[in-house]
Amino acid sequence: MRMRPTLSWTPGADLPPGTTDLAPVADALRAGGVLVLSGAGISTESGIPDYRGEGGSLSRHTPMTYQDFTAHPEARRRYWARSHLGWRTFGRARPNAGHRSVAAFGRHGLLTGVITQNVDGLHQAAGSEGVVELHGSLDRVVCLTCGDLSPRRELARRLEEANAGFAPVAAGINPDGDADLTDEQVGDFRVVPCAVCGGILKPDVVFFGENVPPARVEHCRELVREASSLLVLGSSLTVMSGLRFVRQAAEADKPVVIVNRDATRGDRLAVTRVALALGPALTTVADRLGLTVEAAATA
Ligand SMILES: [Zn+2]
Repeated sequence: MRMRPTLSWTPGADLPPGTTDLAPVADALRAGGVLVLSGAGISTESGIPDYRGEGGSLSRHTPMTYQDFTAHPEARRRYWARSHLGWRTFGRARPNAGHRSVAAFGRHGLLTGVITQNVDGLHQAAGSEGVVELHGSLDRVVCLTCGDLSPRRELARRLEEANAGFAPVAAGINPDGDADLTDEQVGDFRVVPCAVCGGILKPDVVFFGENVPPARVEHCRELVREASSLLVLGSSLTVMSGLRFVRQAAEADKPVVIVNRDATRGDRLAVTRVALALGPALTTVADRLGLTVEAAATA
C-alpha cells in the first residue's frame, strides 16, 4: 500500500549527519553493478518541486488518494482539472544534469537498472533505458472499467476541447503532476470518459492508498538481488514502496549509498548519505569517472 506521506515524520537528532564526500558514490559506480533508486529530489532542478525539502509542497497540498478518486465524481473533477493544468508544466519540464548523469552511467555499463518513484518520465527523456516506473507514469491513462491504456496527450487534447478557455494560474505544482487550484478555479471543468467504453479514466500512476502492482514489486526485488550496490538519488524514503528495497539491499549486505539533501528514513541502513544537490553532485562524480555527460538539449 502506498501511504500518503505526512509531515509528522521528522528524522531523529541521533541520525548520522550527511557528508559532502562523493568518494563512496564514485567508488560504488567504479565497481559497477549499481542499481539506482530515484525519487522526487532528482527532478526538483527540472522545476518539479518535491513534497518535502526546500519549497516542499506537502504543507499546502494533500495528494489525491485512490479511495477519494474512485468514490467521488467531484473529487475526480477537481483532480482532472488540476492534473490537466499540471500536465502542461510537466510537458515543459526537461531532464537536468542529474538525469543526464544517470543516463551516462547507464551508457557506460555501470548500472544494472534504474527504479524511479517519479512519474515525470525525465530519466527516459535523458536517455536511460529499461527504467522501472515504480509508481507508474503520467504519460499514460488507464480506464478503470475496461482497462484500456491510452496516451495522456490524447486525453489532454480531448480535455482541451471540452474545456475551451480553461487557463487558471496554479499556485504551485506537485511531483504527482497535480497543480494547486482553488475550487473556484476548478469551476465547472468538464471531465471526459473513456473513449472505448465510457468508463472512468485515471492516470496510470499508483495513487496514495493504492498498491504498487505485485509483479512490478517482484521485478524490482529481482533487480536488487542482481545488483552489487544500491544508489538512492533524491528520495526521503518516507514511503515503504521505496524503503523496502533499501532494506532488502541492506539485509543482503549490499552497500546502500544515498545522495539526498535532507535526512532520509534509510540513513541508518546506508554506508553514507551525501547531502548535496543531485545535478552538481552527479556531474562531479561523472567527471571523476572520466565520463561524458551529454549537454542539455536546447528547447
Ligand atoms: Zn474503458
